[in-house]
Amino acid sequence: MRYVSTRGRAPILDFEGVLLAGLASDGGLYVPQRWPSLTREELLSFRGRDYPDVAHAIISRFTGDTIEPSALRSIVSSAYADFGHAAVAPLAQLGSNHWLLELFHGPTLAFKDVALQVLGRLYDHFLELHDTRTTIVGATSGDTGSAAIEAIKGRERASIFILHPAGRVSEVQRRQMTTVETGNVHNIAVDGTFDDCQAMLKAMFNDAEFRDELRLSGVNSINWARIVPQVVYYVTSALALGGPDVAVSFSVPSGNFGDVFAGFVAQRMGLPVDRLVVASNENDILTRALTTGDHRLTDVTPTLSPSMDIQVSSNFERLLFEMHDRDAEYTAGLMRQLAEHRGFRIGDDAAATVQSLFHAGRCTETETIETIAAVHRDTGMVIDPHTAVGVAVAKRQRGARETPMITLATAHPAKFPDAVERAIGARPALPDRLADLHEREERCTTLPNDLPAVMEHIRSHAPASTA
Ligand SMILES: *Cc1c(COP(=O)(O)O)cnc(C)c1O
Repeated sequence: MRYVSTRGRAPILDFEGVLLAGLASDGGLYVPQRWPSLTREELLSFRGRDYPDVAHAIISRFTGDTIEPSALRSIVSSAYADFGHAAVAPLAQLGSNHWLLELFHGPTLAFKDVALQVLGRLYDHFLELHDTRTTIVGATSGDTGSAAIEAIKGRERASIFILHPAGRVSEVQRRQMTTVETGNVHNIAVDGTFDDCQAMLKAMFNDAEFRDELRLSGVNSINWARIVPQVVYYVTSALALGGPDVAVSFSVPSGNFGDVFAGFVAQRMGLPVDRLVVASNENDILTRALTTGDHRLTDVTPTLSPSMDIQVSSNFERLLFEMHDRDAEYTAGLMRQLAEHRGFRIGDDAAATVQSLFHAGRCTETETIETIAAVHRDTGMVIDPHTAVGVAVAKRQRGARETPMITLATAHPAKFPDAVERAIGARPALPDRLADLHEREERCTTLPNDLPAVMEHIRSHAPASTA
């Protein structure tokens, strides 16, 4: 399996290469040269198998011969061994033919653990194989940071630096990052927005000297290896509801477009999918782009679902590349327009290639609260504000009632107790393993929204052996 950049000017790499590179050297994102396929018989053979088994079968399609089957098998098994639910990603029924896919049973209570627990172990495997080290730098709107830190903490061959927008992540999210006490974990609070953090991250990766000096690697969902483990739960949940004999729909609370892109990959591989519903909060660039063709940046508005407070959805570039028949020159041109003019128009022909699959909708702050309250009233279940955005939009973009609708529950409600309390008048409790989170000591450095200052901090705190 080989990978190409969406901008066409970076080396073609294998899976290990894209894992360690993160962003492609031409600023583009890596995608498989050809989509692997899952036949109907293979999909049927996954029915009833354990989650790690299916995960191994799917992930191995993307890793090719870069990792032996036995090594991959043990990575996948140990990645999910400590999840709080034996099924890893169980389904719960929300209403008639509407289901919640619970993706928050990992160590940091958000769906990002599903991919990052695998990723941390893959890093270890490849770095040890080549007796080398890496410096992982990531930007987070809240959940990536803690999930990445949890996956990398204590690993000998990697240090991790996580940038988060100061004051714009929830207290639980911040404490999950800043209270991890191992020497290889570094938190940086940036005086700016998530988009500022992400822009600095991209600039660091585009600085070849800095990148090579520190052996930089990225864990944001621009890293192709993040997308792959997310394909798995689309497959397992569809099979549980009758797939591949029936097509199912998914509603995905979306920010950086990584999670819903994994659904697109599952569909490309052969999973029958009726609709992929892209659910936005008030930061609705994805909904505007998909419904009107106008992809245009505005300012970021802080919302109750902060992990989706994003304007520049990096992974959308992967879909643009597909929509334009994998024309890298054209994709690079669109991204130049975005950088220079804060937007671009998607042509009707290109949009038509994905419009029957992708549907999109926006959920306001009021609706988010109302949805948490309504779900609690009707079912007794407590959902988090990101999941609520998915549920609200799913109800409007449902399509045929006989098609199962699966809304991805991307975070545990205890991660966002303030929003939940506003909706139902009670604060959800943290699971036992995090019960003392508010007593733990925090470690974090605040820096201005200034690239040279951040780079200098990273350079001076990365272990000397990487330099
Ligand atoms: C990251 C995140 C999202 C958005 O996922 P993307 O892959 O960035 O679209 C949604 N909900 C929660 C809870 C998240 O942590």
